[in-house]
Amino acid sequence: MLFKTLSASVYGIDAYVVEVEVDVGSARIQDFNVVGLPDNAVKESRERIKSALRNCGFEFPHGQGVTINLAPADVRKEGSAFDLPMGLGLVGCMGHFFGKMLDQCMFLGELSLDGSVRPVRGALSAALAAREVGIKSLAVPEANAREAAVVEGVDVFALKSLPQAVDLVNSPESFQPIRVDAHQLLSEAAQYSVDLRDVHGQQAAKRALEVACAGGHNILFIGPPGAGKTMLAKRIPTILPPMSLEEAIETTRIHSVAGVLEDGLPEFQRNVLEVMRQPLEDGSVTIARAAVSVTFPSRFMLAAAMNPCPCGYFGDPTRDCHCTPPMIQRYVSKISGPLLDRIDIHIEVPAVKYKELRAPVSAEDSAAVRQRVIAARNRQMERYRADKKTYSNAQMVPKMIRKYCAITPDGEKLLENAITRLGLSARAHDRILKVARTIADLDASEGIEPVARLAEAFYRKSWDSLHSTRRGF
Ligand SMILES: [Zn+2]
Repeated sequence: MLFKTLSASVYGIDAYVVEVEVDVGSARIQDFNVVGLPDNAVKESRERIKSALRNCGFEFPHGQGVTINLAPADVRKEGSAFDLPMGLGLVGCMGHFFGKMLDQCMFLGELSLDGSVRPVRGALSAALAAREVGIKSLAVPEANAREAAVVEGVDVFALKSLPQAVDLVNSPESFQPIRVDAHQLLSEAAQYSVDLRDVHGQQAAKRALEVACAGGHNILFIGPPGAGKTMLAKRIPTILPPMSLEEAIETTRIHSVAGVLEDGLPEFQRNVLEVMRQPLEDGSVTIARAAVSVTFPSRFMLAAAMNPCPCGYFGDPTRDCHCTPPMIQRYVSKISGPLLDRIDIHIEVPAVKYKELRAPVSAEDSAAVRQRVIAARNRQMERYRADKKTYSNAQMVPKMIRKYCAITPDGEKLLENAITRLGLSARAHDRILKVARTIADLDASEGIEPVARLAEAFYRKSWDSLHSTRRGF
């Protein structure tokens, strides 16, 4: 007797459909074999399944061999989510499904020895995989149901136990799919308790943050402790365009790193910082292990913060810095030039003067800034409509920079002089043009000149030169 159920396996952040074929009576007596590249968790499932079946009153086919095949056979199957579909397959082989085949429902769940169903990893990805191949129903452990139900177009059923799963197969009409208002959830999640208005002073840094968000540029804040670097960075989500539902689902899958930052960036080891170069440049991370190599999408806007020196007060007019030049040099050189080159905007965040702290709050709120960011982003979406995979100025490749950031010979000369004078790298040239493009988009302007825009873009890059002068102490 052969019975087939459907399940899913997670690979990287994607899930793919797995057919679980259960065959009773074909193998050698007393055998329980799982084939199709199962990992150890899958191999151990036979003990859980045997107990669960027995404790729920279903007989295990004793005296007959059981073979379970997980197809496609050439991809490794991980985790315990196959317990439930395998158990159901056995129940099916024993004739409890009135001859029904389970080809329209995907099952995920780990079984306890008493037959209750335990949560699994990757239910959201499984729901997306089900929708992609047109599977209409997905049955998951209760704890995973809301997460999976966010995906529209698939009916998600919450399960507590193996007997309940058997009931679902035999009388689906007595079950109601879980309904989640994903749009409602999303708008609730988009309410922030912080606002850009909370940050006193720091007009230049706020402007730099607006430019960074408008063009998707990586940004580095440099300043003494307590100047507000972290406060500024924490307000990035309040001025970015709100996520669409599809984007939120993608991001939830990826557990994005965006917007997370700690004080004191160079306190990471240099080799740790260098590892960020691949994702910054390629928008992906490849993790190679013995058996498999998985590539994760990793396009993000990096917001980083660091002190200017080990004590934090170098260049502060009100506090003394006690660091020696070699100490500062060692500290700064932890960030390599090539890594800095991938951060379009470097901005100093000086200590806030007492007067500014006490001044009445009159600054713009996040909502006003966000309106300008959205308008600038819309201009970019329009411009890059034909260029696949480009959504913001920061993502422009050199060919596009030449096309969309054209400058006059005078502007080019100015740029060259400044780059030479400030000792910037050749790569900085393109970065400055990209930032100038974003500043022009915030101004709703076609051209990236006049010179004032280029000049602001330089200024945003000026720490590079500071960096090189400091090295030459
Ligand atoms: Zn210092």
